Amino acid sequence: MALRPYIVGNWKMNGTRSMLAEARAIDRSAQRLMKVEVALAPPFTLIHAVHKEAEQIGVGAQDCSAELDGAFTGDVSAAMIADAGAKFVILGHSERRQGHGESDALIRAKTEAALAVGLKLIVCCGETEQTRDAGQAEQFVVDQLAASLPELLDGASERLSVAYEPIWAIGTGRTASVADVAAMHRAIRALLVDRYGDEEGGSVRILYGGSVKPDNARDLLGADEVGGALVGGASLTAESFLGIVMAAVDLQDA
Ligand code: PEP
Repeated sequence: MALRPYIVGNWKMNGTRSMLAEARAIDRSAQRLMKVEVALAPPFTLIHAVHKEAEQIGVGAQDCSAELDGAFTGDVSAAMIADAGAKFVILGHSERRQGHGESDALIRAKTEAALAVGLKLIVCCGETEQTRDAGQAEQFVVDQLAASLPELLDGASERLSVAYEPIWAIGTGRTASVADVAAMHRAIRALLVDRYGDEEGGSVRILYGGSVKPDNARDLLGADEVGGALVGGASLTAESFLGIVMAAVDLQDA
């Protein structure tokens, strides 16, 4: 059975306790919009507080360590975020890959650490503008993802989502065309089926991310193989985030 569309807000390094009102408003609306699975990834410092507010939405983290515990100053383990109330973790976001030099191998190690403690995963991938202009976007993304995903899912396909986020579309107001999104998502689906088999690879949700807003969400969410959206800037207020959730609800009803 196809999973519900998955709309996930990534608050990045935004938010203090004063933003809990937005999380509460999102949660209360999500209770009435059950055709869509809604989740928020606040900064580490708000995970527990958002978890306490949330009756319907999923709460997750934006990263975790590949290490179990020990002398890793400033790092936060998968078990720690789960203990704080996180049910999922975003891994391999381009801001981690580019800003913190995270390699595909490190991201794979993080996926395995997160799966081991029962978390769901959103594994991100995406090309630079230069790579797209060179006509190498699909090959680059497929190779990046192949090296970042966990080797085996062992029946955990419902716990894995992939987010395709072209780097040049993140926070820029530019989005990939619907045709390019669909082509990339089909290439990602082929990789998932090849890696995990028809059933497991066929059921992993593939999200699109990159300047998704209420006014473009319907077109992007309606593209072939798009199972939801990973949303940055537009997830920071309940009003704009819920506009995207509503677009997903409308598509379900169409
Ligand atoms: C993101 O960072 O995951 C993202 C998609 O950001 P934005 O929606 O702001 O482009």
